[in-house]
Amino acid sequence: MSIKNHILGFPRIGLYRELKTAQENYWSNKITLNELLIAGKKIRKKNWKIQIKSGLDYVTVGDFSWYDHVLNISMMINNIPKRHRFDEKELNLDTLFRVARGSKLTNKNCSASEMTKWFNTNYHYIVPEFTNNQNFYFSWKQIIEEVDEALSLGYSVKPVLLGPLTYLWLGKVKGIYFNKLDLLEKILPIYQEVLLELSYRKVEWIQIDEPILVLDLPKDWKKSFKLSYNILNQNKIKILLATYFGDIHHNLEIINNLPIHGLHIDLISGKYNLSQLHNYVNNNFLLSLGIISGRNIWKANLLEWFNKLKPFMNFKNTFWISSSCSLLHVPVDVSIEDNLTDFVKSWFSFGVQKCLELSILSRVLNKKLDIQELHNWIKPIYAYRSSNIVNNVVVQKRVSKISLDQIKRKNSFFIRSKIQKKKLNLPILPTTTIGSFPQTKEIRKLRLDYNNKIINQLDYEREIKIHIKNNIIQQEKLGLDVLVHGEPERNDMVEYFSEYLEGFVFTKYGWVQSYGSRCVKPPIIVGDISRITPITVKWSKFAQSLTKKPVKAMLTGPVTILCWSFPREDVSKENISKQIALALQDEVLDLEKSGINIIQIDEPALREGLPLRKKEWNDYLSWSVKSFQLCSFGVKDSTQIHTHMCYCEFNDIMSSIVDLDADVITIETSRSDMELLEFFKTFKYPNDIGPGVYDIHSPNIPTVRWIEKLLIKALKYISLEQLWVNPDCGLKTRNWVETSLALQNMVQATINIRKNFLKK
Ligand code: GLN
Ligand code: ZN
Repeated sequence: MSIKNHILGFPRIGLYRELKTAQENYWSNKITLNELLIAGKKIRKKNWKIQIKSGLDYVTVGDFSWYDHVLNISMMINNIPKRHRFDEKELNLDTLFRVARGSKLTNKNCSASEMTKWFNTNYHYIVPEFTNNQNFYFSWKQIIEEVDEALSLGYSVKPVLLGPLTYLWLGKVKGIYFNKLDLLEKILPIYQEVLLELSYRKVEWIQIDEPILVLDLPKDWKKSFKLSYNILNQNKIKILLATYFGDIHHNLEIINNLPIHGLHIDLISGKYNLSQLHNYVNNNFLLSLGIISGRNIWKANLLEWFNKLKPFMNFKNTFWISSSCSLLHVPVDVSIEDNLTDFVKSWFSFGVQKCLELSILSRVLNKKLDIQELHNWIKPIYAYRSSNIVNNVVVQKRVSKISLDQIKRKNSFFIRSKIQKKKLNLPILPTTTIGSFPQTKEIRKLRLDYNNKIINQLDYEREIKIHIKNNIIQQEKLGLDVLVHGEPERNDMVEYFSEYLEGFVFTKYGWVQSYGSRCVKPPIIVGDISRITPITVKWSKFAQSLTKKPVKAMLTGPVTILCWSFPREDVSKENISKQIALALQDEVLDLEKSGINIIQIDEPALREGLPLRKKEWNDYLSWSVKSFQLCSFGVKDSTQIHTHMCYCEFNDIMSSIVDLDADVITIETSRSDMELLEFFKTFKYPNDIGPGVYDIHSPNIPTVRWIEKLLIKALKYISLEQLWVNPDCGLKTRNWVETSLALQNMVQATINIRKNFLKK
């Protein structure tokens, strides 16, 4: 038996983010449509070449997209919201971009479709919108055109499509409520058409992604799998059903009975007993084993995999080896990193290297390559483990010594809040902001010049101080009660902190698509973490020296730093998170010592780190809450700890949010018209809370009246003593005109409401 290899998908952004450049140039009319098309074609061609040159048996086609692969399907089946089209028939790349980005060109409301996280990754997809009695047709043939493109280059092509059930699952019903599953039978014929067209092209395998099979599914959804795949399987083309981001034991009964030809499972995120696999997975399926992580950047231990897979060669199932999921979530190529030493680079595998890993391993399994190659490949892994970057005994000891009574604050919120009120002397309904103020072009250039060594540290710091001073002056003018320094020194809330922490390394080109043309460059956690020097103290201290009002210091919390980095895999996430928490604890205590009385620890990623399956929630929530608390352990009762969260549904983790025991939480609610507040009708939130009173993601200026109304609504559910007034997130993406007008109205609305109460 000969083992084949493939990947589930390759990063689509290009080696140097060429897609981003092309998209943004097209959006700002700097290049033509044709030039955009050429840029995309070049990326695809390169990606396929990488796969073939590495020695993969198939090139994966259909993983490319102009914005998002879920949106690809919306285009394919003609599921385009009415507001995004000029006329019924129009469907082109501009339509696609209008769905993704909205448009200011038309008078009608043409706001973008919602965007949300793709499972538990940092990738965001465009949420499909469904309406009752909708019809579909095969309207966008990108998949076919790209298959033809790859075939014309002479490649063995394996197309990939997002499956119909996962697509439906990810969408949202708009307007009159109905069961979206009812649309399934109208969508399936389009998939059938696609499959048929592909079969004309003598494509042997199609990969259909159904990652929802790793979730806990309702009965009717489970049932629909059989129905769907009965319709899709016409035996003209073999279906490889791909599951990832977890295991599928709980859904095996359905899967085993599907008329499919192959099954892909994720052996990195899922817990599988490889030697038992043939006992419970349908023996007629070809198995694609996802053994190379598509979510992390570490070199794989190919020798270990070789030993695990060797006995597997004798089982009945034919098998392939593959990446665990699409490589979309890792950067393209580590070899171009010129900031990292060869020693450090040798620990990592990005997209290109992962293809190579699959190729080496399959060649050794197929006896086409000597096993010595595996030994060579993994040498750096051993070198890494024994390097002094990894182990810091002091940190390890500190973590091992954490005991439960070393986590919580000494006194209850009831006692603390009295002491804080006296010390801070704030009015009722205190006003504040979330931390950042507009990041102007000037500020960005300043940081860039400093990084490029065009200006020296002294000049840089003097300039930053001018920005901080300006922020303080503006806030005093506006009449805010709790001020912030405005974060002009920060590029990104995770990268900024990790640069001051030992245990991290940074890439220069290690970009990963977050959404559309936006990419992030996650730092890599390579060793035990500790703080090198104080991080924010000098800025907060400086800001406080300029004003009599309290200045709130800003830190990024441990769970968020962990979630937005590539973690090491030799220790648990819990351990890493606690290490970060201890480093932040040093910072918190230093801030307190330097006269700062309010410290905010942001945890916007707390909710998104939640495991996909409910049964794993408790464990995660328990250690993430502890890590948060650990940060502020040891502060005085009079020091007020804030936290901030955004982008999420909080209701289902509210009890853990309470457990954080932050003195004040500020949260995003305004986009849903404070829907969240309904929750507080029945749930008494014990500490202070500032539900955001306006949406900072929109350039619209909220009126005084609007904010007053929201405050009155909030006061129905939250007591006057508990309520804070603030925007729903940081202001870094807004300009100063918008920011001042909005905050002015916010302060005025607060003053008006306060008066009402004082009259009574
Ligand atoms: N303090 C950060 C800011 O204001 C918080 C960012 C966030 O919530 N994502 O920008
Ligand atoms: Zn936020």
